[in-house]
Order: sequence, then structure tokens, then C-alpha cells
Amino acid sequence: MKNVTPVIAIHGGAGTISAATTGAAQAQAYHDALRSIVLAAQALLRKGASALDATCLAVELLEDCPLFNAGHGSVFTHEETHELDAAVMDGATLAAGAIAGVCHIRRPVRAARAVLEDGAHVLLAGPGAEAFAREHGLEMVEPSYFSTEARRQQLYRVRGTGRVVTDHEGAAMTTTPLDEDKKLGTVGAVALDMQGHLAAATSTGGMTNKRVGRIGDSPLIGAGTYADDRTAAVSCTGSGEMFIRVAAAYDVCARMAYGGATLEAATHAVVQQSLPAIGGTGGLIAVDRHGNLSLAFNTEGMYRAHARGDESPVTAIFA
Ligand code: ASP
Repeated sequence: MKNVTPVIAIHGGAGTISAATTGAAQAQAYHDALRSIVLAAQALLRKGASALDATCLAVELLEDCPLFNAGHGSVFTHEETHELDAAVMDGATLAAGAIAGVCHIRRPVRAARAVLEDGAHVLLAGPGAEAFAREHGLEMVEPSYFSTEARRQQLYRVRGTGRVVTDHEGAAMTTTPLDEDKKLGTVGAVALDMQGHLAAATSTGGMTNKRVGRIGDSPLIGAGTYADDRTAAVSCTGSGEMFIRVAAAYDVCARMAYGGATLEAATHAVVQQSLPAIGGTGGLIAVDRHGNLSLAFNTEGMYRAHARGDESPVTAIFA
């Protein structure tokens, strides 16, 4: 039995989060939510749980929290519906599971985990993914469970512009100070467990005003989510199309594996060079097999938190 110091990091999305309009009470609500969720995952890791279990727990707690754009509180498509995506990957075995375009599975990350455990496929979409979740006894809900009024208003603001925006941009497209429930984000977690294994999980409602049927980077293994014990575990957030085009999560790991880059150098290259070169905005969280952490973004802010061993967690929003 190894005794590696465990590490957990979580994110609640990156984007246009204005320091100027974020009230103290609103910021505190985010810090509190991030802190309690990272504490729960940290406690699990300290009991010897796997990185896979810890990342799934963190992401399902983030899905349940309406402050974030995943599960309850997900953004709307152009047709005023919800389509949720999620993925999880085990760095020890390279086993992965993902679901896309679902609107009845209460906690999409649990369905992604069930796909991973089932092992026959990696990515299930739409009605087939929902049938799979039902067969596996997962909790199903009416699509209205995911809706919040703030999200609906966000769609109305954005729809008239013809743009497709990340949650944080949609929330920021108002001249009045942001309500705390308007600033939400894709969620994710990465962890290193006491056995030295890595895992990553990501879950999202996608982008506000997206076309029905659009699938982002989050459920695509190698784009928004990746984990490999030999290099790192990565969970991304931002303008999904660009993350898909640069294979962002995998590129971090590839730069380490093939080029000998440090985690910091690899995430910097992807977040500050490859993504901006094609107009990609957002960020990612990553942990490597030595326990180094990188929480990198090219936007004004990214909701994030991390904890190492039994140290007190650190939460942050802005640079
Ligand atoms: N990356 C997500 C997507 O494109 C959105 C986000 O991170 O806010 O679906």
C-alpha cells in the first residue's frame, strides 16, 4: 500500500466574471460552496478512497449546487431546453465513460461513471444514454428540474444577439450587477489518491443558446477531460469548440509525455498559447502524478479550489 499525499482540485467554470460587479456576499457564496465540496472530496481521499471516487463525489455535489452550470442550474439551448454532458476517466487503467445530450438524468456524472464501469462503450448520447441510465437504476427527473429562472433570463439576453456563449459570458451580458445565481459554470474535478492514481471528471449544461444537438468538449475524452497516471489528470472549461480543436486535455498530457514538459509548462502552452491562437477562452485544472497542481485560465476568473493532504483548502475566483 503506497502512502502518497492525496490532492484534489475542483472548478466551477471559467469566463467573464467581473471583479467590479461581484458583490462580497455573492463571492462568499461561491467560496463557501467550493470549500464545502472540496472538503468532502478531501475527506474521502484521506480515508484512502480512489481518485475516481473523489472526483465523482466532487462533481455530483457541484451538479446539485445551482450556483454552477451542471445538473440543477444548467444553461438553456436555443430551443429553451437542456442538454447535459459529462465524462469521467481513470488514470490507472485509462478506462473512461461519458454521456452527452441528456435531459432526464439527475446527476450526469453518475451515468458517465456507469458507462465507465460497464466497459462496453466510452460515450453514449441522447435517448440511448438515458435508457442506459434507467437500466442502471440512476435517478431520473423531468427536464424542468434543471431549470432556474436566472438561466432562462440569461438565454433571453443572449438569444437576441445570435451568439452562443459560455455561462459566465451570458451572465455578464447585463448592465446590472450580477445576481449570484446568474454566474454559473461547467464543473470538474481532478485528484491524486494515496495509491498514486489519477482521475478526472467534468459535467456541464454546455453553452447558453447552443444549437440543439451540439456537444461540447466536456464529454469528449482528450478534449475536455483526460487522465493518465503516467502524466496528469485534466478537466477543462471554456469555449468548448476550441478545446475540441486543440484536444486540450490530451495535449497537456502529450506535452508532458513526449516533450518532457512540466505540468506548469504544459498547461501554460495550452491555455495561454494554443487556445488563444484560435480564439479559445477558458481554463483547466490539472494535477500530475507527483501531486503538482495547475489551475490555469485566460479569462478574468475561474471558480476553483484545491486541497492537499490534510491541509486546509484554498478557494479562489479571480487571478
Ligand atoms: N466547455 C463547456 C462547453 O463547451 C462550457 C463551459 O465550460 O462553460 O460545453
